[in-house]
Amino acid sequence: MSPTHDVIVIGLGGMGSAAAHHLAARGARVLGLEKFGPVHNRGSSHGGSRITRQSYFEDPAYVPLLLRSYELYASLERDSGRRVATLCGGVMLGRPDSRTVSGSLRSAEKWNLPHEMLDAREIRRRFPTLTPDDDEVALYEERAGLLRPESTVAAHLQLATQGGADLHFEEPVTRWEPYRDGVRVHTPEDTYTAGQLVICPGAWAPRLLADLGVPFTIERQIMYWFQPEGGVRPYLPERHPIYIWEDAAGVQVYGFPAIDGTEGGAKVAFFRKGNVCTPETIDRTVYEHEVKAMAEQAGRLLPTLPGTFLTASTCMYSTTPDEHFVVARHPAHPGSVTVACGFSGHGFKFVPVVGEILADLALKGGTAHPIELFDPSRLTAAHV
Ligand SMILES: Cc1cc2nc3c(=O)[nH]c(=O)nc-3n(C[C@H](O)[C@H](O)[C@H](O)COP(=O)(O)OP(=O)(O)OC[C@H]3O[C@@H](n4cnc5c(N)ncnc54)[C@H](O)[C@@H]3O)c2cc1C
Repeated sequence: MSPTHDVIVIGLGGMGSAAAHHLAARGARVLGLEKFGPVHNRGSSHGGSRITRQSYFEDPAYVPLLLRSYELYASLERDSGRRVATLCGGVMLGRPDSRTVSGSLRSAEKWNLPHEMLDAREIRRRFPTLTPDDDEVALYEERAGLLRPESTVAAHLQLATQGGADLHFEEPVTRWEPYRDGVRVHTPEDTYTAGQLVICPGAWAPRLLADLGVPFTIERQIMYWFQPEGGVRPYLPERHPIYIWEDAAGVQVYGFPAIDGTEGGAKVAFFRKGNVCTPETIDRTVYEHEVKAMAEQAGRLLPTLPGTFLTASTCMYSTTPDEHFVVARHPAHPGSVTVACGFSGHGFKFVPVVGEILADLALKGGTAHPIELFDPSRLTAAHV
């Protein structure tokens, strides 16, 4: 029996939908298999907004990928006709020696990215909602802003379908295995074969990619929306940046302008600090003590933000021990399987470039993009 498809993509969330689009655009016969419906809220790619920025404090090695991702996000908007990005500017705030500030500056300087350093007084003058301590500073980046995750996934699914990809929803993969020169994939509906498999499982990586040997930690994360005291006007994206603030104890909080008009409020969250969970057992209830802790911490920087609590929602991070991604050929199946997982709470801004990289790896066996940092062998038992 000849393979039914050239490439099967498992998981059509952020990364898998982008992979399906890039693969189909290159003429591959693509089958996408997704456990839930299109654009769902049970994985890691929902909640209305995601931060994007270029002066990357995590590591300067991400910057070339970000520059490409910005280009691809612009093409995605153009080709799909959907609004995905709002580049409202961003401040990375904290003490000068905090990772958030010093790491952002390191990337900006290394890659010559446009940026400004603001002292506390200048931050307060430009952004009156923010009240940093006198010893805090910020790196301001005009090109930072926000992405809309649901629109991004919808746009990639739309373009993948237009490119001829066959996308099946509510069809979970129960098992996959090497088969002849390629792979065989099982679902409750059917069994499929293909020359190449691309696995983008998000928080389900510990199940679908157990043989990778990477110790993922799945974390329950909460997003909170507040109606600011005194009204939403100072928080509108025309005048309010995205922000990441690290306090003296190293706790990071990040937030967004009020993007959904007067009713939706402004979103804020802790970066990390999540409880360990699994996709099956995650507690979706958000408790009063959690809302209180968020309001208190956010209120230290933005005293008017926690006016009225509106709503909260949970989401999952899939974190690797060094918080860098896993994007590679599967070490045990290098000729036929490609993996993208462990995005550690900061993957969304890379979605389209990861789609491009996955198409390169599946169709050409390699990529010109710098992905050495994402090699899973750095994390497997033999290397830890
Ligand atoms: C609260 C929160 C805030 C974040 N903020 C930011 C931010 O500001 N900036 C940023 O860059 N990143 C951010 N991130 C991270 C970013 O959103 C994720 O890295 C990204 O969405 C991960 O995409 P993914 O494709 O790996 O996972 P998902 O989008 O969850 O996709 C995985 C898909 O695989 C499917 N699947 C799993 N198992 C199977 C199976 N057996 N069969 C078929 N389908 C299967 C799932 O249903 C799911 O649709 C945030 C994440 C969260 C949770």
